[in-house]
Amino acid sequence: MLQTKSNNSTPTTQKEQLDLSIVVPIYNEAESLSLLIEAIANAVTITHLNYEIICVDDGSTDGSTKILTDLATQRSDLKAVILRRNYGQTPAMAAGFENARAKAIITLDGDLQNDPADIPLLLDKLNEGYDLVSGWRKQRQDAALTRLLPSKIANWIIGKVTGVKIHDYGCSLKAYRSELVADMNLYGELHRFLPALAYIEGARITEIPVRHHPRRYGNSKYGLGRTIRVVMDLLTVFFMKKFLTKPMHVFGFWGLISLISGILMGLYLTVVKLVMGQNIGDRPLLILSVLLILTGIELFSFGLLAELLMRTYHESQKRPIYRVREVVQ
Ligand code: UDP
Ligand code: MG
Repeated sequence: MLQTKSNNSTPTTQKEQLDLSIVVPIYNEAESLSLLIEAIANAVTITHLNYEIICVDDGSTDGSTKILTDLATQRSDLKAVILRRNYGQTPAMAAGFENARAKAIITLDGDLQNDPADIPLLLDKLNEGYDLVSGWRKQRQDAALTRLLPSKIANWIIGKVTGVKIHDYGCSLKAYRSELVADMNLYGELHRFLPALAYIEGARITEIPVRHHPRRYGNSKYGLGRTIRVVMDLLTVFFMKKFLTKPMHVFGFWGLISLISGILMGLYLTVVKLVMGQNIGDRPLLILSVLLILTGIELFSFGLLAELLMRTYHESQKRPIYRVREVVQ
């Protein structure tokens, strides 16, 4: 099957301008690999774009690494990035983004669940002027109870919290403009929140329905345990979206409320003790007052520290607190 290699594929050493980088994280997908790369090449060849496929081997232990390096030495359109160990899907994708050189970037899974034939559709949509086009697995082929239901709930909550109204956050098949990718920093398992992170960077986002197939080979790398991690990541993203450049607004506000109510209660108790001469040692209000004052001071100090950290974060990397789409003269 390998002879159908695209004739306009670009050797990765050549300094020619690339149109499209396709990033695929690979963790133990040995059986899928050659089929996958062939399918991607076939799908992209019809668009006559100069493309590169970047497969990131995320510490596979099933022989995927060998298959991938062999394929990469045979094909000029394939670049294999081999990570030292298994880091997870987010770091694997970040490594792929780092190596991508084209102006448009496509990501998809390495298990053949996404259909490379959808790539041209995503690119068309991207060319309409969007910065991110997300795939929507309208007919998703995964287990109903353990996968589809949690995912439905998660997508609803994520949409509500982040303000990005798309149906399917979990779909890896997406198209990006490379400037956007360069602005986003990925940590933990934040690949699921790329649309939300993109939204924070001011991206124009849309979605189109894409095909989805059942997993043919190997097993999914995730179980139900990811639900909890998604919730934690969601909190991070929510905070980043709302308060990244003004943490004092959240910590300071609640700190102030707590401090003021604590002090008021304390004053009331002082009056009760000094003016009315009553004993206040056994009053629950006393404990509440002390608790609120301490919490208030703590939240306030947190806010100040967060302000300092935020300034270091932006200024150390010369990271602007705004993003310019274009300047017209
Ligand atoms: N993957 C990876 N590193 C990991 C786990 C997964 O690179 O630690 C890759 C995996 O090979 C696949 C993609 O991420 O290409 C999505 O994984 P999977 O298909 O298991 O997730 P699901 O489709 O079940 O959500
Ligand atoms: Mg999959």
